[in-house]
Amino acid sequence: MSATVKMVEDILNELAPMETAESYDNVGAIVGRRDAEAARILVALDCTWDVVQEAVSLGAELIVSHHPLMFHPRKNLLEEDAEGRILCEMARNHLSLVAAHTNLDQTEYSGSAACAKLLNLKNIRKETNYLFLGDLEAPVKAVELEKKISAVLAFPVRCYGDGNAMISALAVAGGADDGDWMAAKALGAQALLTGEVRHHNALAASMSGFVLFDGGHYGTEAPLVPFLAEYLQNRLNDVQCNVRVFPSQCAPFGSV
Ligand SMILES: [Zn+2]
Repeated sequence: MSATVKMVEDILNELAPMETAESYDNVGAIVGRRDAEAARILVALDCTWDVVQEAVSLGAELIVSHHPLMFHPRKNLLEEDAEGRILCEMARNHLSLVAAHTNLDQTEYSGSAACAKLLNLKNIRKETNYLFLGDLEAPVKAVELEKKISAVLAFPVRCYGDGNAMISALAVAGGADDGDWMAAKALGAQALLTGEVRHHNALAASMSGFVLFDGGHYGTEAPLVPFLAEYLQNRLNDVQCNVRVFPSQCAPFGSV
């Protein structure tokens, strides 16, 4: 038996219920047909033009992305804008799209949880909707942790605050979540790894002795892709679907 788009949507809905997504979000089946067969599935952070081409070359019928298409409602479908071109290309190639975004951010398959696992944090716990906390094996200077995070995420990380501050508990909120630094501090963390740090938050946090690590939106969320692909593969294997799930290998902003 092979899977359908609907089956994959249902599995994602069990993992990360769609109703938990933010009201502004656009999750679930977005493009294609729910009854279409999905024997090959490509998991990606973003459904970019390159990801669509990757799906076509793999012979995939379904893309599962973290960030949705049509996040902003459309009034036309013209190929003269980038998203319109992607949507038309998907239709031409009979590709479907299912997205799991802010609903996935609240689960153990979020970018935050993936980063915490890759950093080998201990006692990883979900503290608020989007904030995960974990302990380091031993306290480490912020400058040293910055190097470690950069190496683990394979992405340049920027440290805001006292480089000599000792970090024993690290909060992680992947993507755009620098506003959660005060919650992270109140929960006992000495630092927060997030994906986008605005100046006012960097300033306020450092003045209060808290450290912010900016690992980039892509850097802090791309790690979820292989974990989610593996999860979908296992879940579909469990129900004896003959499916291959691929994590996307595309560079985030086009060719490297
Ligand atoms: Zn994001």
